[in-house]
Amino acid sequence: QPVGISIRNLKVVYHTGQGDIPAVNGINLDIPAGQITGIIGESGSGKSTLAMALMNAVPHPGQIVSGSVVVDGIGDMLKIDKESRRQARGRHIGFVFQAAQNSLNPLRRIGHQVLDLGRSHNVKDLRALIRRAKDLLTRMGLNADRVLTSYQHELSGGMRQRVGIMFALVLDAQVVILDEPTTALDMISQAAVLQIVRQIHVERGLTTILITHDMGVVADLADNVVVMYGGELAEAGPTEQVLAHPAHPYTQGLIRAIPRITGELEQAVALPGSPPDAVTFFQPGCLFAARCPLRFAPCELTRPVYERLGPSRHVACFRVTQHD
Ligand code: ATP
Ligand code: MG
Repeated sequence: QPVGISIRNLKVVYHTGQGDIPAVNGINLDIPAGQITGIIGESGSGKSTLAMALMNAVPHPGQIVSGSVVVDGIGDMLKIDKESRRQARGRHIGFVFQAAQNSLNPLRRIGHQVLDLGRSHNVKDLRALIRRAKDLLTRMGLNADRVLTSYQHELSGGMRQRVGIMFALVLDAQVVILDEPTTALDMISQAAVLQIVRQIHVERGLTTILITHDMGVVADLADNVVVMYGGELAEAGPTEQVLAHPAHPYTQGLIRAIPRITGELEQAVALPGSPPDAVTFFQPGCLFAARCPLRFAPCELTRPVYERLGPSRHVACFRVTQHD
């Protein structure tokens, strides 16, 4: 039974010496069951914070200040008791957080850590668990026996990332959250590993959330795409539709920035300007206005509301939803 996630009014702030940073600022989003949803946006747009909030695992000095994250069959991740949440993490929701290279225990062999994970989730058949780990590692092009007897420092960055993906998948979770899972791999291995992720997604009927800042990865892999900007949602919808007809000028910019070769060489155009800073967050207008080629008067005055644009498509842009 595929599992969907319904996110309502989710707000996360980081309390810093310079003030509060609204890293996820009141997000409403449905993650459809059984599909791959790609989350994309520039560095600092809040992708990782959103991923951690879905697990109710935002680290200090971050704090989830409001909202709900209802996972089918589990309940609201932000309300359930500690033990249910612990069980949900790993067992029902597999995850690789960004820089997962650092989340391995340096003092224990990888194989022992697989067993630790199994025991902490009351897995009865630990042999079968190790078999699954080996199978996943082998499919991702690794020497499974060697990896399982290694310590993390004996593995390259790319190997550790694949080990991280194995940990996300080994307990047979129905939901898998992968935050930039292949950045340490070269382009060829990255494509190969992501194809394996896609295959496993299909075989198991998973609900997969894939965070990336590569629109090319989204185009190849994701059924749906969610575009984040400054802690808010700019646009979301089925990948094919969004790529063919991006509604938000920010999405249009991201698509123009995909390097591509089409008969003759076409130039990728980097998006000019930089993401919103701490001051912009608290100004009334659209967060993207300063960089937007299409801005007009309303954009400076109020924050565009994230509105339905069609079946399963949403956008937050006055150019689309309001006419002068
Ligand atoms: P990247 O593509 O670089 O991984 P991201 O989209 O995952 O970026 P986040 O890491 O979620 O973005 O960060 C969102 C915002 O929260 C940024 O403004 C960032 O500076 C801020 N932030 C993240 N972690 C912390 C922290 N530990 N303390 C203070 N601010 C933080
Ligand atoms: Mg991140």
